[in-house]
Amino acid sequence: MLDRMEEVETRSWLRCYRCWSQDLEVQVHYEGIHKIDPASGERGETVEEVQEAVVQCLECMHDQPHLGFRDGRVEPIEDRWERMIAGTPWVASCTVTVESDEVETCHGPDAGEALSFAAFGDHGTREFFTHVRFHKHEGDERIIVHLLVELYARSAEEATEVLEEASRGVLALTSLAEESRPPAATSDDRH
Ligand SMILES: [Zn+2]
Repeated sequence: MLDRMEEVETRSWLRCYRCWSQDLEVQVHYEGIHKIDPASGERGETVEEVQEAVVQCLECMHDQPHLGFRDGRVEPIEDRWERMIAGTPWVASCTVTVESDEVETCHGPDAGEALSFAAFGDHGTREFFTHVRFHKHEGDERIIVHLLVELYARSAEEATEVLEEASRGVLALTSLAEESRPPAATSDDRH
């Protein structure tokens, strides 16, 4: 426990939240529309610009939702990184009851993603490992989504709080259990 806290202080946030490896990579998708300078033919003024970036760990291949990418450098997501780096995985079995309008689709290959998003927003699709077990329609108005969720937190209380804040509907928590952390990457097991 002490070792973990010391490591967090000295090496802080720039590492994988699961295995603590610092072997990270960023995938940047950039889409831009620019004016063309009539004299030089150079790319000029930006008309429109969209950039999406995902940081991934090369040791365990997981995405790093506690890290963002701006102006050419990776930076921590303030309300998230400490909990994820210092925390352990918690697995929650829960239901979230949402308005039917909030669910884009509940059939086909996109149903899992759409139901996860309806239940927990971006947390459901980008941060947590979310598995939709099944869903039930309550008349035309509401859908009850039954989920298994894995999230990182420093205590059961914090895990519960994060789930409550992320929930976009009425959350009912059936069970919450702490799992063991995946083994930390060390320089010894690099090839
Ligand atoms: Zn990793």
